[in-house]
Amino acid sequence: MEKQFEIGYCRACGQQQILVLAAATQDAADDEATENCDCEEGMKLRQIVKGCRRIDELFGPDSENLGFVPIHEAETLELLHTVVKLTADKRLLNTNLDINRYGKAKIGMNSKGKINVKRSVVNAYQLEE
Ligand SMILES: [Zn+2]
Repeated sequence: MEKQFEIGYCRACGQQQILVLAAATQDAADDEATENCDCEEGMKLRQIVKGCRRIDELFGPDSENLGFVPIHEAETLELLHTVVKLTADKRLLNTNLDINRYGKAKIGMNSKGKINVKRSVVNAYQLEE
C-alpha cells in the first residue's frame, strides 16, 4: 500500500490538522489543511488561489473553451494576478481594466468576501457610408 499523508499544515499559519481523508502527497495534505483552516491568512490565501484560477480560466489559454481570445502576454496575465492579490489584501476594492482588443476585466470583492472576476467582450460594429 502506498504511503498516505494524514497530517497537513496550513500554508498560512502552520497549524497542524488531521485530515478526514488522507492525501497522496504531503503537498496535497498541506493544500487540504490550508483549505480547511479558518485563520484569516488562510482565507486570504484561498481567495488568491481561487481568484487567480478564475483569471486563468477567463483570460489565460483555457479561456478559449469559453469562446474568448486567450491572452498570451505574460505581463498582462501577471498584472491581473497582482490585482487579485491586492484585492484579497483589501488594498484594491473594485478594479476595471480595459485590455484593448481582449475586452474588459472587472475584479472586485463581493459582500461575502469572495473575489469576483468578470471578463466582457463587446462586439460592436459600426458601418459607415
Ligand atoms: Zn491557517
